[in-house]
Amino acid sequence: MEPLDCVFCAIARGDLPSYRVLDGDDVIAFLDIHPVAPGHTLVVPRRHAATLLEMPEAMAGPLFAAVARVARAVARAQGADGVNVLQANGPAAGQTVGHLHVHVVPRRHGDGLRLHIPSGPEATDRTAMAAQAERIAAALAAL
Ligand code: AMP
Ligand code: ZN
Repeated sequence: MEPLDCVFCAIARGDLPSYRVLDGDDVIAFLDIHPVAPGHTLVVPRRHAATLLEMPEAMAGPLFAAVARVARAVARAQGADGVNVLQANGPAAGQTVGHLHVHVVPRRHGDGLRLHIPSGPEATDRTAMAAQAERIAAALAAL
């Protein structure tokens, strides 16, 4: 169900302006209004889903295909050396707009952005790791 006050639904309908770069049947993309780098783009399914966890699986193909195409285009248009693809689910993960979206951020060597996935200490507790993998595999099987 689409919330009445969803900003990205309003952009998808064309009721709010955006710097649109892609206008597909299932997926749109537009520039982030607070870019961390020139060309920072958001890729958004038209149909409202709050997060990746609520997204119908059938949307995964069209959404990720659009992310890959937009990433190629953004990289080419900006002359980027690399691209980060980032996505937050829920306020605890840093999500501020409650309509699923994927950030595409062009990167340059030495641009100073700190978007890399940090690395923790090596996991050495084999029992804990095996138990964790088992819990996740069981949860997957129950979906
Ligand atoms: P997140 O923290 O992953 O939820 O990111 C939400 C992003 O949406 C932020 O980077 C905002 O700058 C961006 N944003 C919010 N409102 C708009 C808007 N009307 N047009 C474009 N980008 C927006
Ligand atoms: Zn929405």
